Formats: sequence, structure tokens, C-alpha cells
Amino acid sequence: MTLSCALTFDFDAMSVWLGSYKARNPSMVSRGEFGAIAVPRILDLLKKHELPGTFCIPGHTALAYPDIVKRIRDEGHEITHHGWVHENPADFDEAGERANIDKGLEALHKAAGVRPKGYRSPSWDFSERTIKILLDYGFSYDSSLMGSDFIPYYARIDDRFDDKTPYHFGPNVDLVELPVAWVMDDFPHFEFVDKDTYGLSASTKVEEIWTDEFDYAHRNIPGGLFNVTMHPQVIGRGHRLMMLKRLINTFKSRDGVTFSTMGAYVDQWRANNPLDKWLKSGAPQAQNACGRDGL
Ligand SMILES: [Zn+2]
Repeated sequence: MTLSCALTFDFDAMSVWLGSYKARNPSMVSRGEFGAIAVPRILDLLKKHELPGTFCIPGHTALAYPDIVKRIRDEGHEITHHGWVHENPADFDEAGERANIDKGLEALHKAAGVRPKGYRSPSWDFSERTIKILLDYGFSYDSSLMGSDFIPYYARIDDRFDDKTPYHFGPNVDLVELPVAWVMDDFPHFEFVDKDTYGLSASTKVEEIWTDEFDYAHRNIPGGLFNVTMHPQVIGRGHRLMMLKRLINTFKSRDGVTFSTMGAYVDQWRANNPLDKWLKSGAPQAQNACGRDGL
């Protein structure tokens, strides 16, 4: 068994500033434009190393930069749904949340004729309905939740929770979850957003963290996925791209490592872990694994 590595790039461009940060300050919004400068640099790096990438792209970005989205597609990388304009799904009612999924799909289709099979929510935010909606739209996987580190699991619907009653686990459904983590995301490490995020870390610190996470997974989680989230407008700065290049060389130097898109990894994981079989595997996320519902 090998460790797989998914290099994922959330090409948010201006959408993160408009949708998540509600910015209308042209200078703040312009930070997103750097993403369009950085993506070609990243594509060149991936091509040099013959590595597949996964690009999570909001509809707003796809309409702003269709030629870049086409290049991502043409160079063989995966494109996933990443919302419409980096909105929080929980800020909308069900019709609004579905409309945002539709707008994202339509934009990716218009820009590059792509119909993604994966989804990553903007800022990893969910509503209580999100998993059900993703199932309705036929998505194969999501990569927004944090219930594990390197081991995928099947997502659940209808969990119920508050601070007064025991946690209620709902049933697992046929949607694979590829977990994420803030420590594995370049944005909080590096970005500076007034009163919100004080990143600006030295790249060597992040390199140390990600290398040790990788080596832990490599030694202990056979068949797992090292899923790292980067943003072109963040990782595309010179010193950080130099870090990424060093990390790629480090990862490639370890025995038995394969690089995969999220979608290709999910196809393989599903084949090895069909839902019925997985429910009996004793995985902690399996609703019926321990008969502990409500305990
Ligand atoms: Zn994003």
C-alpha cells in the first residue's frame, strides 16, 4: 500500500474577497487578481514534475478567467466545484444554496465545458443540508470536512447536535469525504487580513509542518491520502513557490508515493471500500460501527 498525495489549488481569485470577506475595497479585491498571475506558474511547476493537480474553482472565477480554466483542463488537471462567489452555504435557504450550486456548474460549463464530480465548499463552510444537496446533484465526493486526517470516509446526513443532548449520528451516504485541515492550508499560515488572520509565516516553518505531516502519513497510514490545500494567490509568491518545489522533491523522494487528483483517488478508494463493506469496517465515522447512537 502506498501513500497518495493530492496537490489541490483553490483558485478563488477575487471571489474570496467579495464573497467571504464582503470586501468592496478595490485594493483588497485586487489581491485576488494575483491568482491569475500565479496559476500559470503553478501549471509550469506541475508540468515540469509531471504531476496532476486538482483545482477547485468558484463559478465567479471561471467567468473572470475562462482561458486559464481551459488551460488547467487542457493540461489534464481535475476541476472541482467551489461554489459560486465563495459564499457560505449556511447564509442561504435551500433554494438559494441550490441556486449557487447551479451557478457554479453553469459557469464551469460555460468557461471550459467541465462537469465536476467533486465539490469543495467555500472556506469549508456547510449548511445542514449541504451533503443531501451534493447527493442530489450526483457529486461523487466532497473535500470540506475535518472528521479525519489522511483516511477518507463516507459522509453522513441528518446528524443532530446541540450543547444539551447527546450527539446523534445520522446515516452514512454514498458521498466520499476527503478530509481537510487548517494546518494543511496555506491561507492561515501565510495571509494577512486585518483583524482576521495574521499569517505571514516563514515558508520554512510551513515546510517543516507539512513535511512531518507527510512523513507521519507515509509511515503510518498505508493507502491514505495526503491532501494539501493551496491557493494560487497565496502559494504563488516566489519564496512560497520555492518551498512548494522543495516539498515536491521531498515527497517524491519517499518510497511508494503516488500523486493523484482527488477524483482519481476517490475512484480507487471507492472500488476498495464500497459503502456496504466500509460500514462493517469499524471506522469511527460509520454510523452503525459501534451501535453507539445517542450514547
Ligand atoms: Zn476557496
